Amino acid sequence: MVQPLAKFGDLETRLFINNEFVNSISGRTFPTINPATEETICEVQEADAADVDLSVKAAIDAFKLGSPWRSMAASERGKLLWKLADLIERDAKYLEELEALDNGKPLGRDGQYGTAVDVGLTIAIYRYASGWCDKIAGDTIPVDGNTLCYTRKEPIGVCGAIIPWNFPLLMQSWKLAPALAAGCTMVLKSSEKTPLTALHTSKLIAEAGFPPGVVNTLSGFGPTAGEALVKHPGVHKLAFTGSSLTGTKIVQMAKLKRVTLELGGKSPVIVCDDANLDVAVGACHVGLFLNQGQCCCAGSRIYVQDTIYDKFVEKAVEKAKQMKIGAYNQPEVEHGPQVDELQFDRVMGYIQKGKDEGATVSLGGARYGTKGYFIQPTIFTDVNDEMTVAKEEIFGPVMSIMKFSTDEEVVERANGSCFGLGAGIMSENIGRAIGLAHQIRAGSVWINTYDDFSVQAPFGGYKDSGHGREKGKEMLDNYLQTKCVFVPL
Ligand code: NAD
Repeated sequence: MVQPLAKFGDLETRLFINNEFVNSISGRTFPTINPATEETICEVQEADAADVDLSVKAAIDAFKLGSPWRSMAASERGKLLWKLADLIERDAKYLEELEALDNGKPLGRDGQYGTAVDVGLTIAIYRYASGWCDKIAGDTIPVDGNTLCYTRKEPIGVCGAIIPWNFPLLMQSWKLAPALAAGCTMVLKSSEKTPLTALHTSKLIAEAGFPPGVVNTLSGFGPTAGEALVKHPGVHKLAFTGSSLTGTKIVQMAKLKRVTLELGGKSPVIVCDDANLDVAVGACHVGLFLNQGQCCCAGSRIYVQDTIYDKFVEKAVEKAKQMKIGAYNQPEVEHGPQVDELQFDRVMGYIQKGKDEGATVSLGGARYGTKGYFIQPTIFTDVNDEMTVAKEEIFGPVMSIMKFSTDEEVVERANGSCFGLGAGIMSENIGRAIGLAHQIRAGSVWINTYDDFSVQAPFGGYKDSGHGREKGKEMLDNYLQTKCVFVPL
């Protein structure tokens, strides 16, 4: 096994404010843990309200009229974003390993999902955003009378971003790329569970040549740094990804600030009797087990038509059984540990609840090994809609399979959740599949596939899964406001 600390000797652990790495004002640090070994990787500087205040002031100064950032041509902003993508590409291997070490997910270099995929998508979104910078335009409005009326799309201003731990690099890029393309400045708080890659990317932001204060990156906790950022009067807009519980608190604290939310899910997958079973099993497998089940859009409620139920369960169990479990630096690993002890305990609690409420454990259902936060891929069958495992977001490698008989019934059951992030439809009858897709209340629907992500395609939730879209051209709307100008002629 490679010794992680030796490899990451030049790791940056301080706060990034005004293009410089600085110690936190309080001098406090916190440990970040390797979830595969339970060992501390390093101590990281912890931001509190005073550091947030300093960072917001830096972002305010960077946004002032006449500042280098505000005076910069849009096409120059585009060049900086492209340069950042190039630098991430240059450091791709370093970032892939650092992300895997901090989060526990596999490297994904063998055609499987892993940090190599995340880094690729991160590069792609900065490049995609780069192309948008000089294409942000308003309209000319044909008002009555001899008056010129036009709209301008202007950057909202100073943005605060708060991100989770499941895709640290990607979540940082989904906030930063559109905000920078729009011309905003940002203070971003990473998750206390996975602070490391956001700091390395910040180093690259300075190297790319973004003016000081445009991007500021803080490591720290929700109730301290997070709340200070949400409440700070200098912040005009908040972009949050995380749990629905925290999202609710943020909306309450943010008062009149603009807020976009990417929250949790309990996404249904409908496997029809005319599905190609191998395709369906493959899509459901990826849809649930990808990233150790720690995906907001995980397809965690699988509804299988009764006539093919037994065959589907047999194949799904067979596929999940073959997953290679281990630390990221072991060869061909597909399934790593949960991110930390808290998440491990939470998921194990849900598995216990599933057993207590009468679901059948068809695979797994226990810890894997004795060291690290590994959980066996778990499949519950004989599940019904009232069981906790079918209702609540588990955020772990726990698949719940249920039976259905008619399309009408399954649409009602699939829509019977407060969440609406993702959904899957498995059917060889494309008319039936599209018909079902249009009836499901979710922001993304995958037909005969799952977890296809493209930077050009918008992603976001219906219902309690949030509002606003990240990626695609709609991502810019989160960071722009419209000004209408009237000129009598
Ligand atoms: P979380 O809500 O606990 O934490 C998310 C972030 O919010 C962290 O940075 C945390 O420090 C911060 N935070 C916590 N309390 C806060 C407070 N009171 N004020 C301000 N900030 C606070 O979520 P998590 O455990 O990090 O992530 C898992 C959740 O995120 C899941 O519910 C998952 O579905 C969701 N998620 C959604 C998407 C999406 O795009 N919809 C993507 C990834 C994760």
